[in-house]
Amino acid sequence: MPARSIEQVRNLCKRRGFVFPGSAAYGGLGSFWDYGPLGTEMLNNVKRAWWRDVVYKRDDVEGLDAAILMSRKVWQHSGHEATFSDPLVDNKKTGKRYRLDHLLRAQNQAVLTSIIAQVRAIVGDYLDHLLGSLRYEIARNDPSLGFEYELLAHASGPGAELVTLLPTVSLSRAGMELLADFCAREVLDLSDEYRIAVLATAQVVDPAVDEPGAWTAPRHFNLMFESHVGPVESEPGTEEELASRVYLRPETAQGIFMNFAHVQRSMARKVPFGIAQIGKAFRNEITPGNFIFRTREFEQMEIEFFIKPPQFVREGEKNDAQWHDEWIKQRYEWWTGLGIDSARLRQREQSADELAHYSKRTVDLEYLFPEFGWGEVEGIANRTDYDLTAHSRDIPAEDLARLKLEPNTDSVEKFDYFDPDVKARYIPWVIEPSAGATRAMLAFLCEAYHEELTKDPPAAEVDAIKAEIPAVIKNAQKKQKDAEKESDPAQRKHDPAAIEAFCAALEEAATRLPQSLLEIDALLAEHPGAQNLEPVKKLQPKVNKLAEDCARVVLKLHPALAPIKLAVFPLKKNKPELVDIARRIAQTYQPHFRTVYDDSAGIGRLYRRQDEIGTPWCVTVDFQTLEDNTVTVRERDSMQQQRINLEQLRDHFFTRLHV
Ligand code: ATP
Repeated sequence: MPARSIEQVRNLCKRRGFVFPGSAAYGGLGSFWDYGPLGTEMLNNVKRAWWRDVVYKRDDVEGLDAAILMSRKVWQHSGHEATFSDPLVDNKKTGKRYRLDHLLRAQNQAVLTSIIAQVRAIVGDYLDHLLGSLRYEIARNDPSLGFEYELLAHASGPGAELVTLLPTVSLSRAGMELLADFCAREVLDLSDEYRIAVLATAQVVDPAVDEPGAWTAPRHFNLMFESHVGPVESEPGTEEELASRVYLRPETAQGIFMNFAHVQRSMARKVPFGIAQIGKAFRNEITPGNFIFRTREFEQMEIEFFIKPPQFVREGEKNDAQWHDEWIKQRYEWWTGLGIDSARLRQREQSADELAHYSKRTVDLEYLFPEFGWGEVEGIANRTDYDLTAHSRDIPAEDLARLKLEPNTDSVEKFDYFDPDVKARYIPWVIEPSAGATRAMLAFLCEAYHEELTKDPPAAEVDAIKAEIPAVIKNAQKKQKDAEKESDPAQRKHDPAAIEAFCAALEEAATRLPQSLLEIDALLAEHPGAQNLEPVKKLQPKVNKLAEDCARVVLKLHPALAPIKLAVFPLKKNKPELVDIARRIAQTYQPHFRTVYDDSAGIGRLYRRQDEIGTPWCVTVDFQTLEDNTVTVRERDSMQQQRINLEQLRDHFFTRLHV
């Protein structure tokens, strides 16, 4: 079974040098992570596997590495400067911060009704035509409405009637969401003063404490990090400041669009062809978290695949929908080919209201992460001709209107292409498969993480542990009660909440013994609630010994992703003849892939250490090697050992390394 919690993976990553918290000596910096020796190897392997699949294995994709900093105009014309933002609001009482639309979606109908009534009172009948459309939209989209449907859909008179109708109807989730999103948009259109007053009068509740908050004025918060090229002393927003302002790119895609014509001409490419790029992206996320799932600095792997617009597609050629389907299939197979079980990878169609206005269709690939569930790992979008048109000058008015774009008078380029097949000039359409490299690493780690028994532990020892657990829990609960009696938290010897969580986790894990041996071992050793409890100190060595003898953590990573491919051990480190051969084998493979030599423990322990970091093969040199030139090759997942002649080792590894 894959990882049960993100915590298991995070612990392993820290313990074994995959990922460390960034700036740790100074208390860390919100959700920035450093990739350690093994994490760097693995992340490089993820990127290499992607590059091999989308560039090397194809005839129609070129690679690119564009600069992270680009002209601010790129982000103005891509739409990021105006719209790549979240509306945020803070509760001054609790310090909690929310996205306004998320906060309003968590309110009841009375609160939203109050907001609408207030906004109508402030804005006046200017709002009525919008309220009329909202009334109709709610009626159309809320399937639970009965007689109320007629009321809403066919109400005559101005839209303001919605304000009087709302208290008489009961909306379900779909209707409430429409209402909440409308409220969010309208509140953001008011001045700061009114924004504060409307939320206060409506008594908008903070879901964290279930009582009305003291809300600040909601503001748009752009997710792009800003910086400046050259020294700047002017105030933000002045002409001088704006002229030198740059953004850390929030996606790699725009660098590809900027280079469409360069790559097409320099590589003499004909449409259809694609450009692939891997690189850092930065987003000042409001709620980063879940380890490396959502971070403010991350890496993306993106392809922009340029195709003919539908009107130029000839018989026998793929149209945009077919190219889109093909990329969805290809990308899905990449993930499963590298070990993701299809039970935990799904394709999710974005709904009409999620779709960006220029996207014809977007399918997200989602992985079923432990604890927080399905999360996007890649989005595959049909972006039509929006992007290249947005960055082009001299676009006809009807195309600007179709794509809801303003004329671009800053660009000196027109990103069109003369297609010799159809003898016409056009702006290509784009299919965009966009994946996160760091997020992919988390998905692969969660999928690969296994705790398993290597042999059946003696029943008597398991029973002895089972018998001791109730006493540990009883003692812990007593300590919890004692701690609760002490009213000053600073004087408490134990944290009662941590003990309670520890007891619950231990009780649950005990029902799964002996499979849960390693989990219990970790609980006793690391859980904050377990620290300093005497019975825990007594039980832990027993659990630890049994876990060492009979269980292992193993990362069942595809060999292409494993940070270390091969570990070589001499059976005895004090036998120079064995050590020499083992070192020589390691040196043979070091130039080709990450290979390590190790003689720092007994073979059993060395195997376990390599299992935990996903090394697919361990080679042991023993006395038989001296006689017949064979070594023991131990395979990680099956733990099977076979003797292979040194001459055949190379083939054994190389044929298994790639997808
Ligand atoms: P989300 O909905 O999770 O915020 P998104 O739809 O904004 O993601 P895209 O803009 O489509 O993401 O980016 C493409 C890919 O980049 C995502 O599928 C994800 O793998 C990765 N990605 C996006 N934001 C982050 C982040 N903050 N941290 C790590 N990876 C990210």
